[in-house]
Amino acid sequence: MTGNRTFTMIKPDAVENGHIGAIMEKITAAGFKIVAMKYTQLSVRDAQAFYAVHSERPFFGELVTFMTRGPIVAAILEKSNAVEDFRALIGATNPEEAAEGTIRKLYATSIGENAVHGSDSDENAAIEGAFHFAGREVY
Ligand code: GDP
Repeated sequence: MTGNRTFTMIKPDAVENGHIGAIMEKITAAGFKIVAMKYTQLSVRDAQAFYAVHSERPFFGELVTFMTRGPIVAAILEKSNAVEDFRALIGATNPEEAAEGTIRKLYATSIGENAVHGSDSDENAAIEGAFHFAGREVY
C-alpha cells in the first residue's frame, strides 16, 4: 500500500523568478491538499543534512550553495499515491528530459536549479516532512 503524503520544496531559483504562485496553483489543481507549509531559508547545516545522501557526489557543494542562497517554500502535501503522483507532476530531475507540462519543464533552468523538490519514497517523505515541521505545524 502506498502512502498519502509527500514533501516538497519550491527551491531558491523558482522563488527568485517569481514562480511560487504558479507552482502552488499547479500543485493544488493536481489534487494535492496542503497539510503544512512555510516560507523559510535553509542554513548550510540544514542543506548538508537534508541532502546527506548526496554528500559524496561531485555536485554536493554546488547543491548546498544553491539551496541556501535564498528562501524556499517547504510543504507537506496529501493525496492518494502522493509520492508517485507528485514525481510525475514535477517531471525528471533534468528539465531537458522532463515531460511537457511538468513543473520542472515549465520552471526549471538546469539539472541543478530545477525549481522543486519531491520526495522519492514514502519513507523519505516522512523523514523530510519531520525535518522541516513539528507535529503541531501539520494540519
Ligand atoms: P531529484 O530526486 O529529482 O531531486 O534528484 P536527485 O535526488 O538525483 O538529486 C537531488 C538534487 O540534486 C536535484 O534535484 C538537483 O537539485 C541536484 N542535482 C542532481 N544532479 C545534479 C548535477 O548533476 N549537478 C548539480 N549541480 N546538481 C544536481
